[in-house]
Amino acid sequence: MDLDLEKALDEPVDLSQRFDVPAERLQRVELLSLAPVAFSGRLLRAEPGFVLDGTLEFDGTVACARCLNPVPFRRTGPVSWVFAPAHARHLPVPDADGETELQATDLDVVFYDDFTVPFDPLIDEQVQLEIPMRALCREDCRGLCPECGADRNAAPCTCAPPADNRWIALKALRPKDSET
Ligand SMILES: [Zn+2]
Ligand SMILES: [Zn+2]
Repeated sequence: MDLDLEKALDEPVDLSQRFDVPAERLQRVELLSLAPVAFSGRLLRAEPGFVLDGTLEFDGTVACARCLNPVPFRRTGPVSWVFAPAHARHLPVPDADGETELQATDLDVVFYDDFTVPFDPLIDEQVQLEIPMRALCREDCRGLCPECGADRNAAPCTCAPPADNRWIALKALRPKDSET
């Protein structure tokens, strides 16, 4: 979907839109599923361009960083974009608070031609930022056995713990009395 900024030339426009963001498009291996992303907000004029403030809401599942089981997540948060005409690249532009002392280069400004801005890439970018990193199904997830691949949360497997020779060497160095 494209944002038609021209609609907000005379008065603010309320927007409410659902976006289907295919999980594959975000190229995050841990992302298992993503429900449609809901955006609602208000587009208004702010010289020399426009400001869009709103809320983004979505949920999905990511793989647990240790055992790979699905971990549900839900995100709701404010989003805000400043749009400025391409010819205003070097003019002062308003930030979200309507202040004008900042230069365009200091802000995350989206420049447009012909009052049109592709909206999907902006939504993708925000969703990308909000996908949990290294989520865990639970704080003490035991993860997968490195030997047989079994989920150690389900049942302990019979594999011997991997030998750690460094640890043995360290023990040998330790004086006996420090072990108690
Ligand atoms: Zn887990
Ligand atoms: Zn095992």
